[in-house]
Amino acid sequence: MSNIVILGAGFAALAAARELRKQLPQARITLVAPKAEFVYLPSLIWIPTQMRQSSDLILPLQAFLRRHRLDFHAASVTHLKNNGRTVVTDQGELHNDALLIATGGRFIKKLPGIEHALTLCEGVKAAETIRDRLHHMSAGRIAFGFGGNPQEPAAMRGGPMFELLFGVESWLRRQGRRKDFQLTFFSPAAEPGKRLGGKAVSGLLARMARLNIATHLGHTLQGFTETQVLTEGGQIDTDLILFMPGLTGPQWLDNTDLPRSAGGFIQADEYCQVGGYERVFVAGDAGSFPGPDWLPKQAHMAELQARAAARNLLLSLQNQPPVARPKPELMCIIDTLDSGILVYRSPQRSRVLPASKLFPESVLTCHKSITTY
Ligand SMILES: Cc1cc2nc3c(=O)[nH]c(=O)nc-3n(C[C@H](O)[C@H](O)[C@H](O)COP(=O)(O)OP(=O)(O)OC[C@H]3O[C@@H](n4cnc5c(N)ncnc54)[C@H](O)[C@@H]3O)c2cc1C
Repeated sequence: MSNIVILGAGFAALAAARELRKQLPQARITLVAPKAEFVYLPSLIWIPTQMRQSSDLILPLQAFLRRHRLDFHAASVTHLKNNGRTVVTDQGELHNDALLIATGGRFIKKLPGIEHALTLCEGVKAAETIRDRLHHMSAGRIAFGFGGNPQEPAAMRGGPMFELLFGVESWLRRQGRRKDFQLTFFSPAAEPGKRLGGKAVSGLLARMARLNIATHLGHTLQGFTETQVLTEGGQIDTDLILFMPGLTGPQWLDNTDLPRSAGGFIQADEYCQVGGYERVFVAGDAGSFPGPDWLPKQAHMAELQARAAARNLLLSLQNQPPVARPKPELMCIIDTLDSGILVYRSPQRSRVLPASKLFPESVLTCHKSITTY
């Protein structure tokens, strides 16, 4: 009986676990993560405006684990031994015949004064802090922005910042308080969100202009103070800074000699294999994968990588060569609270559509909560 270990309990890990259980009814499959819960990160954008509460986003995994007959080891991986055959965690060691790494990415927090900025994507606590700060403001200036990873330009999370910006704008408008707030969007990129496609960028910037949101674009970020965003092109005075830094690989990689990409992620080949490590695969935000320069770090792509990695892992246990390659695909709805923009991109197609043309309003309002887990 094969013994498979999956590191993580996010989108990639759960998709891989499901796929492996389907193909290998007898295998022992163990998930390793600090807690047996799945955090539905895409809905974090709704916590600041109180459309969702933290408890709506945290799904206990007990039923999923039971349904798919998975073991769970509550721990954080710290490093690997024996070329990946032993996983070392803060709660003991686990042996495996094959390993799938899906521990996500982390934000680069190097800019001076970064502690003055709140980063929504760090999780429910950060989202709640933003909610509390917003609710205590009766008027003022709010700066929204995102940065990148200069070594790996695709390693950024811009979509949620657009959603937060438009969501807060719309929320203030509904409350009749928009006139009391000055909103500014900043980014070191002259065309922020370019990997969504040229049409998406122009549409997003036009929407900002229409909604009287100021922009400060194309200037390298220098840092933050409590009341300022500092850039090479001048400063933005503000009462609240909401900023999403660029992404890099998880911290624990520093204790390993796993191959790293320029941006600090685990380097994968086209089959999601980790070079130099037999029967070790990576999926999701933890990895860097060959593909187009717009290849997203998104839940949808993480699931496609996880399914390909799971199939190839299964073949590796049968001493067969890998065959499955994840299809590069970007698919997201940029939620604006009162409507949405659907962005689709593949090597063949690029589409930007008002989401209301495709989905009835009720579906749009809950699309981020739809999950099969
Ligand atoms: C606000 C926001 C909005 C988003 N909106 C969208 C969207 O609309 N559409 C979309 O497709 N994507 C969206 N994304 C991106 C999407 O959530 C990520 O791309 C996705 O979560 C990546 O999945 P993953 O499984 O690779 O990593 P994660 O989901 O980050 O999961 C990582 C897992 O690893 C575990 N872990 C971490 N470190 C360790 C360790 N040392 N040992 C063991 N376990 C560990 C974590 O606990 C977690 O269970 C959004 C993200 C955010 C934050």
